[in-house]
Amino acid sequence: MATSGGYNYRNGTQRGSLKVDKPLSVNSNTKSVVKSKPLSASGVRRNSTGSLGGATGPPKDDAGVLGRVRVAVRLRPRNAEEKVADADFADCVELQPELKRLKLRKNNWDSDTFEFDEVLTEFASQKRVYEVVAKPVVESVLDGYNGTVMAYGQTGTGKTYTLGRLGEEDTAARGIMVRAMEDILADISLETDSISVSYLQLYMETIQDLLDPANDNISILEDPKTGDVSVPGASLVEIRDQQSFIELLRVGEAHRFAANTKLNTESSRSHAILMVHVKRSVKGRDPTLLNENGNSSHMIKTLKPPLVRKGKLVVVDLAGSERIDKSGSEGHTLEEAKSINLSLSALGKCINALAENSPHVPVRDSKLTRLLRDSFGGTARTSLVITIGPSPRHRGETASTIMFGQRAMKVENMLKLKEEFDYKSLSRRLDIQLDKLIAEHERQQKAFEDEIQRISIQAQNQISESERNYADALEERLKYQKEYKESIKKLEEQLLMNQRSYGSEKGTYGPKDDSSNLMSNKENLSAAKEVDELKELLQKETLLRKAAEEEVTNLKSQVSEWKRAEAAGNTEILKLRKMLEDEERQKEKLEGEIAMLQTQLLQLSFEADETSRRLERGGPVKVLGGLDSLMTQVRSPQLKESGTEEKASIAKLFEQVGLQKILSLLEAEDADVRVHAVKVVANLAAEETNQEKIVQAGGLTSLLMLLQSSEDETIHRVAAGAIANLAMNETNQELIMAQGGINLLAMTAAHAEDPQTLRMVAGAIANLCGNDKLQTKLRGEGGVKALLGMVRCGHPDVLAQVARGIANFAKCESRASTQGIKSGRSLLIDDGALPWIVQNANNEASPIRRHIELALCHLAQHEVNAKDMISGGALWELVRIMRDCSREDIRTLAHKTLTSSPTFQAELRRLRIDF
Ligand code: ADP
Ligand code: MG
Repeated sequence: MATSGGYNYRNGTQRGSLKVDKPLSVNSNTKSVVKSKPLSASGVRRNSTGSLGGATGPPKDDAGVLGRVRVAVRLRPRNAEEKVADADFADCVELQPELKRLKLRKNNWDSDTFEFDEVLTEFASQKRVYEVVAKPVVESVLDGYNGTVMAYGQTGTGKTYTLGRLGEEDTAARGIMVRAMEDILADISLETDSISVSYLQLYMETIQDLLDPANDNISILEDPKTGDVSVPGASLVEIRDQQSFIELLRVGEAHRFAANTKLNTESSRSHAILMVHVKRSVKGRDPTLLNENGNSSHMIKTLKPPLVRKGKLVVVDLAGSERIDKSGSEGHTLEEAKSINLSLSALGKCINALAENSPHVPVRDSKLTRLLRDSFGGTARTSLVITIGPSPRHRGETASTIMFGQRAMKVENMLKLKEEFDYKSLSRRLDIQLDKLIAEHERQQKAFEDEIQRISIQAQNQISESERNYADALEERLKYQKEYKESIKKLEEQLLMNQRSYGSEKGTYGPKDDSSNLMSNKENLSAAKEVDELKELLQKETLLRKAAEEEVTNLKSQVSEWKRAEAAGNTEILKLRKMLEDEERQKEKLEGEIAMLQTQLLQLSFEADETSRRLERGGPVKVLGGLDSLMTQVRSPQLKESGTEEKASIAKLFEQVGLQKILSLLEAEDADVRVHAVKVVANLAAEETNQEKIVQAGGLTSLLMLLQSSEDETIHRVAAGAIANLAMNETNQELIMAQGGINLLAMTAAHAEDPQTLRMVAGAIANLCGNDKLQTKLRGEGGVKALLGMVRCGHPDVLAQVARGIANFAKCESRASTQGIKSGRSLLIDDGALPWIVQNANNEASPIRRHIELALCHLAQHEVNAKDMISGGALWELVRIMRDCSREDIRTLAHKTLTSSPTFQAELRRLRIDF
């Protein structure tokens, strides 16, 4: 490495050809840096040609992108002392920034040349230093990667100047920490994202919290699965604006100064580590649970958890790289001196090991290397600035700093996106949504009931008012009638009286006397007048009567009007009743949807578990896992370890939803719901403790019915899987048979195309084949034929299940023959199984082979089968099994069977085979 310029130049070009990332540059744009093409496979690191995950996609896999550690060198200007003391001497280094080269003078006529990613002269501004060294790293952190910026160099060469200047007196002097936070704050959204900061000091293998100095023995925690390093004991301060961050740095610096005074050391002996955690929610796939019209099927389809990206920026101001005097300068003992240097020398060793691709990297030798495990050889984007001074007096230290930088340039990291699903926030959101729905529904119900009550009271009031009016009118009419009758009577009386008086007067006075005539004339006149008056009276009365009659008809029409109004009120009530019923139905539907949502959540939790399990295992993430993975997950003991909290929430949900509800969803109208429900039932059926409950609740019958009623192959596959699990139990086997299960399974097998469906069906029948009591019925209903029919698929998993079924059947049959319950040739031979058995007896897949070998031995034990077996070529297979089978018990069984059968013996003699 540190050889003549020529060699270094070659080295430089070689390195250039290896470059995958854009070199550090002022205009660097990290977006393109991050998307740079990964190299093909190298060693143990996994690569993928896939992208790093678009802004909206879920975490697809954990392959990364190669990213070499970038190294820049920065030369400090001569300070006042050097200007005087070294006035007559040239600087020990000469920079060629345009060539990115540095020449280290050996003597007046010779020098070594080194190449770096960036060469920063004594005139380089703080802004430029930030942009070439730190900005690409900060941008990566904002994109969801880890990043490290570190300064290495002799005390007094400008590490703290480069990283930690606050620049309050002169904005141009701001260092990397301040500028990095400015960029982060400018890029994130405080509503959806968050920044939190820890600030630590590492001295003599002890970690102290610079934000809470009393906390001075912080331990490092390493996640054995993900390799993530954290310091849970350190204070974590949330940052929302630049000013509070500056304040935090100032506090940290003051504590660092105080601590070092107390420890009687200089800050140059300790490492300062700033950690900035940036958590961002990934935009563009914010799942809104309900659209405006509350469409629930849409709601279920968008039920995806949100994504978050968690990048961590680590800024490390290392202790001075100069060696401290072993004899114990600064008043330290030798042990202390060793301890002071331990972390820094361990870092050097790790970088050497990584640069040389050594199989062992001594990461665990010091706290510093443990803390920085992700920064060198890990998943972070790392940028190192090495600081040197110009003075020829420190040529040795400068040379060793340069060598450190050169080695660090060879370290390759594998950048990985820190992206994960935020299941907790999804669950929270769902809970809130659910509560909202429930409350809204309750409000509607209440308002509706109030309205009904109001309308019935109003109708009641109207009716009673009509009744009252009617009664009043009736009374008035009666009164008029009575008055009218009385007036008529009075008139009649008067008329009678008049007539009478008129008649008697005529008799008394007679027309004989004129004077009396005159008199009577007078009287006549007054009588006529009276009659006129009476007539007038009668006319008036008649008019009155007419008016009264009119009034009565009026009142009558009013009453019928009221009656009509009453009838209308009644229809209104009926209409409202109907509305109430509709509301009730709507409520039931809503409840169904809520149950469905809960089921969905249950399913999601299962999947979430599986996803995290897969992530832990480093396997590919399948969001909607297959039945198998779900089953294994339910069985997996890991589930118990992986968060009791989650498990409890699943149990709670299951309790809330209830088995009956889940089973009722098997018949739901929505196909998606049916699929989810059957998956949930299958999950539950995979656990032995649930099986009895499921069967008791009628789940087995529902599952069997699904085979018949559904056309959907996914439903067939999942239902058959659940039936296969339930069919492990003898009582259930009888139930399945009694409910025509064989027929249904055979039908499903006949129509299935997916090998996994066939595998589940074959598994279920294979389980039934192992029941002694069901032999004849199973065969009679075509179980054996159905099994043999499935070999058309050729998938080894299906064949293994078929073979297992045949072996089970042969075993039961053999047992029945031995006990004398059965006589005659094997039903398997009757059903034509022998050719397939012989063909696959030596199948290369060991599960298939083992089952068939056993089946052959069982068949061969009964003399009635011997002839068919010989003509079908099974004898050769038995001889092979006896000689070559890797399992001793099967070899022995074959041997015993062959020697005890006279027919086989005779045939073997005829073929001159002996053993
Ligand atoms: P270190 O942290 O490496 O011990 P410092 O950052 O404390 O070094 O720098 C030592 C001195 O040199 C300080 O007074 C600082 O202001 C000065 N200094 C360092 N780098 C520069 C620079 N690039 N330009 C001007 N002054 C510098
Ligand atoms: Mg310093």
